[in-house]
Amino acid sequence: MTAKIRAGSWEITTLDGGGLYLDGGAMFGSVPRVVWEGCIPPDDAHRIPLATRLLLAKNADENRIVVIDAGVGDKEEEAFRERFDVRLPNGEGHCPLERAIRNSGTDPDQVTDVIVTHLHFDHVGGATRLDSSGSSIPVMPNARHWVQKRNWENGLQPNPRERASYLRPNIEPLEGTDLQLLDGPGEIMPGISVEEVDGHTTGMQTIRIEGGGRVIRYLADLAPTIHHLRAAWTMGYDVHALKVVEEKRQLLEAASAEQALLALEHDPVHPWARIIEEKGRFKAVPVSEDELAGE
Ligand SMILES: [Zn+2]
Repeated sequence: MTAKIRAGSWEITTLDGGGLYLDGGAMFGSVPRVVWEGCIPPDDAHRIPLATRLLLAKNADENRIVVIDAGVGDKEEEAFRERFDVRLPNGEGHCPLERAIRNSGTDPDQVTDVIVTHLHFDHVGGATRLDSSGSSIPVMPNARHWVQKRNWENGLQPNPRERASYLRPNIEPLEGTDLQLLDGPGEIMPGISVEEVDGHTTGMQTIRIEGGGRVIRYLADLAPTIHHLRAAWTMGYDVHALKVVEEKRQLLEAASAEQALLALEHDPVHPWARIIEEKGRFKAVPVSEDELAGE
């Protein structure tokens, strides 16, 4: 069951953008396999299952329907999908994000805003689909698409380490939408602000929703799973591991102080977590959807 979570006039639900498998060693960086395999057990190919968990935030007072991140999508060819074992939710077929939005009672044309944390394929691929002529086109054509300017530039001129993650058919079609290139942190609509972090990739943004005494933070790849809510656990994919450590230290402090509800985009089991301080150390505890639905 997907809980409806309220934060002031915002009503938030999760969307299933589909699952994928990534190399466990790459996901856990310098953490030894004997340690991480107890957290998420790998398959025979050393890969671990991951979610792409997106948010849909509706605000009737503001006439806003916001989608946060977009999953992998279905534009890629068979070989790509096999390598990452991309699983489309709700059965195979066209455009998983479009289907997830429709299942939640909204039409993709009605989406007013898409906030993209960063342009890596597993976060933005689902914002576009192939039309009948094989061209990549936006799934939510009427929406403003919010991306950090530095991430946009990075995505179009990727460094060799990230070339396989930044794919032009995922990025260029967004220029045909109302593209909002952001210059750093700030509030982008009432109750929703973004913060810029550079450790995972240049110009990634995390999202903070505040209202009615509740704070929700969408962490993207700053902490993809609950196990990564430890400052020192970085990913092999991160471009600046020590920056991630510092950015995460700040996040853990802030999330603990404001008792934030943390959305975990890639965690295969736990959609939500909170941070508590225990004997001077920060500890992540899972929060179930049932618990939130009851609040
Ligand atoms: Zn990423």
